[in-house]
Amino acid sequence: MPELAGHDEELARLGRNPYFLTHEGNARETTRIDGQELVSFSSYNYLGLSGHPQVNETVFEAVRRYGTSVSASRFLSGNRPLHDELEAELAALLGTEACLAMVSGHATNVSVIGHLVGPGDLIVHDELAHDSILQGCALSGATRRPFGHNDPAALAAVLGRHRPRHRRCLVVVEGVYSMDGDIAQLPELVAVKQKYGALLMVDEAHSIGTVGAHGGGIGEYFGIDRSTVDIWSGTLSKSLASCGGYVAGARGLIEYLRYTVPGFVYSVGMTPANTAAALGALRAMRAEPERLARLAANSRLFLDLARKAGIDTGTSQDSPVVPCIVGDSVRCLALCHALFDRGISVNPIMYPGVPEELARLRFFITSEHTTEQLERTVQIVAEELGRLTAPLVAAPV
Ligand code: PMP
Repeated sequence: MPELAGHDEELARLGRNPYFLTHEGNARETTRIDGQELVSFSSYNYLGLSGHPQVNETVFEAVRRYGTSVSASRFLSGNRPLHDELEAELAALLGTEACLAMVSGHATNVSVIGHLVGPGDLIVHDELAHDSILQGCALSGATRRPFGHNDPAALAAVLGRHRPRHRRCLVVVEGVYSMDGDIAQLPELVAVKQKYGALLMVDEAHSIGTVGAHGGGIGEYFGIDRSTVDIWSGTLSKSLASCGGYVAGARGLIEYLRYTVPGFVYSVGMTPANTAAALGALRAMRAEPERLARLAANSRLFLDLARKAGIDTGTSQDSPVVPCIVGDSVRCLALCHALFDRGISVNPIMYPGVPEELARLRFFITSEHTTEQLERTVQIVAEELGRLTAPLVAAPV
């Protein structure tokens, strides 16, 4: 296969490889790589709940009681009380009638989208949609049309042109965009989808447990009636300190999915450990709301400092995802390595993750970062940007 040789060449061109670095402990506001402690912005442990003693205890207890696998699809004999508790508590957080937890966030989007629409239907998605959404579109066999990023008028234009020729139409957006850290304009998107008779799905991978006073995501952030969104999906792998995904909405929809969606029916149930981790994290988030307040304050501080230092943070707003847009892959990698060497771990995001001219470092802020860590990091980023040739730093605002 020629792509194998091509892959090797591409990796060789990178020189120093920033991928598959082994983190030797729990990644929170700091992490350990090769025995060196770094300030970490490279993991989405947003609320610091992975590694929280109470969450760990919940997991230990679940493993003692239920073992390490449920050893069957939940549809058959894999259901455990923990699954039902998790789904009830997620639905309560989301303000929906029901919720279904699945083994992977990525597979949730693929399987649910692939199942609910098909040939003859239309999917209209934000142009920056995550890979799991695009894979779901491909699986479904529906016609797919992107619309301009976070632009309700662009969505209306696409629906006006294409909606009449299709049976069912699904609009898919993200709550907080994973590369840019901006928030979907939900009230406007809901108005458009209602006008054109479309279903709306919101993927809250990066907004559940980060946005909204109680971590309830963008439905809570905007204070909208949650039933105006037909399908809420998300992951358990970020704020909720586990591994898995969920889909939530009206009871009828979730009951239908429970019996029919292939990624659930034909897959094993979530492990006791993962289910307990998400459940423990939900409870810790409720018991310690100051984590959400600290996350919001830290995110705001980092964004303000970065903007003042002239760093291009794109459209990030009110979220813990803050890009530092560098403008090409070569300089993006150079900056990533320079920061690593000064004790900062942050991920480079380059083509095809984003267009080449928008290559960036993506900072994940957590509730656990100290003010000093945030201030020092922005200072170092600005210094290192200045060291790279060419005018990378915009005029300070
Ligand atoms: N949706 C979005 C927007 C994501 O960013 C991700 C992954 N980070 C997923 C879905 C998939 O979730 P998971 O990694 O938990 O499978």
